[in-house]
Amino acid sequence: MLQLKGKSVFEGIAVGTLKVIIHQTIDISAAKDFAPEAERQRFFSAREQTTTYLDTLYRRAIAGNVGGAEAEIFRMHRMMAEDLDFEDGVTAAIAEGHCAEYAVKQTGETLAAMFAAMDDEYMKARAADVEDVARQMLRNLKGLPSETVVIEEPCILASDDFSPSEIVKLDSAKLLGFITANGSANSHTAILARTLGIPAIVATGEQIPSDYDGKTVVIDCDRQQVLVDPPKREADRYIALAKQQAAKKEALTALIGKPNETLDGKSIDVFCNVGNSKDVPLVLKNDGGGIGLFRSEFLYLESRDYPTEEEQFRQYRATVEAMNPRPVVIRTMDIGADKQADYFRLDPEENPALGYRSLRICFDRPEIMETQLSALYRASAFGNLMVMIPMIISEKELDWVLDAAERVRKNLAERGVAFNPDMPIGIMIETPAAALISDVLAKKAAFFSIGTNDLTQYTLAIDRQNAKLEPLLDRHHPALLRLIEMTVANAHKEGKWVGICGELARDLDLTDFFLKIGVDELSVSPAYVLPLREKIRSLNLKKAR
Ligand code: PEP
Ligand code: MG
Repeated sequence: MLQLKGKSVFEGIAVGTLKVIIHQTIDISAAKDFAPEAERQRFFSAREQTTTYLDTLYRRAIAGNVGGAEAEIFRMHRMMAEDLDFEDGVTAAIAEGHCAEYAVKQTGETLAAMFAAMDDEYMKARAADVEDVARQMLRNLKGLPSETVVIEEPCILASDDFSPSEIVKLDSAKLLGFITANGSANSHTAILARTLGIPAIVATGEQIPSDYDGKTVVIDCDRQQVLVDPPKREADRYIALAKQQAAKKEALTALIGKPNETLDGKSIDVFCNVGNSKDVPLVLKNDGGGIGLFRSEFLYLESRDYPTEEEQFRQYRATVEAMNPRPVVIRTMDIGADKQADYFRLDPEENPALGYRSLRICFDRPEIMETQLSALYRASAFGNLMVMIPMIISEKELDWVLDAAERVRKNLAERGVAFNPDMPIGIMIETPAAALISDVLAKKAAFFSIGTNDLTQYTLAIDRQNAKLEPLLDRHHPALLRLIEMTVANAHKEGKWVGICGELARDLDLTDFFLKIGVDELSVSPAYVLPLREKIRSLNLKKAR
């Protein structure tokens, strides 16, 4: 048996027959005696073939089961193929006498290395996209057919890495899972795996040798491990586990469309936490009642510079339109602490979690808040949008935001732009200070959403990033539960609703507590909507202790 450890990009267990894919290497001459004009012509014609091919993949993704948002990957690849830096690199190498293949390969490698060296995890993962585009161009130059993996029988694929174009062309009904030696959980291939709901392990470090082709393989996402050719008893145990999981998942789909209501008739909203508009299909697939937390800072983390009002507006509008009439709560950017974007140029800090983050940055750079609020107000004309502000500690801070919102509304009205002037502005309760003065804040905030991840860290003085402190992190600490209960009571006194959007929302041991104290909404990752609904529907609050 071969046992490999890697990173899970989706949950679950898959057991199946292994198909090892070895990507063909293409021989390329490094000689410098080629005629530049002829090679330039060859490059431009291969580039055109590549963009045409990427357009076909885009259309196929739109029409297929991958979804419109994921299809954007191929739009992005098309942009990379036509990128001027890429073209300049290739034509410069050709001018030195290299053949078009060599020039494309070298330029692709240089650009990929540039992405790989970036600090930002998202940008790092773009290296694989550049390599994918360059590889496709090389195949076109060599007149080779595009890399296509054909699977006739259900199987688990393993390779050094898969390009998004390979995954999207596969028959997903037959793809039970995949394993890659390289790649990251942020790669587009990983994103596709999550969207398709396929268990996958990436970054195992070594490629599974082709001798194992046809053997049984187990992907265990919970333990982040792969077992190749396990003993029969071990394989049988996993087959039984996989069957149990599949049956459970199937049974849960029967809850789609059913209310989140206890046996004695108490209901609660179950919404979803998302990172961007691409997660919307997952929310709908899992029957999330709305989006309770859209972490808008991911948009900032994915950008090389401050995202413009227009760029933000497009994302927000796409989200609210796709969710309409279900509500969407977008949180204003929470950059800082563990979420750093280089272009913000924040100074290093002794205690980043207690430092210069989110709203605190906006006090010095109000244009960041105003640009974002302007994009949000504009998007509010297209659906059911609410905005919430993170990291509030005082009434003064909330006043500052409400003043900024008023300025933005005035400006939009002057520009004659459509927006919802009554778009609710709520706040996150994620500092003990905010919880303790929630009676005051409830008079001005449209709603509360309790961020238990930070509220726990600040209440218990335990850094949420420090794995060493994990054993001390009592997620049910009475101090935390008291703050939550108090916040809910204070909101209700002012007739405002309260949600919970931290990880505690999906803690099934607390569901009855949350229902009893009157929490109005729980916001969880899409995959947890139906398990949570199942729990809610099994409870009888009147009978319980
Ligand atoms: C929280 O703090 O609970 C929260 C939802 O925000 P984040 O995890 O993004 O800090
Ligand atoms: Mg937080």
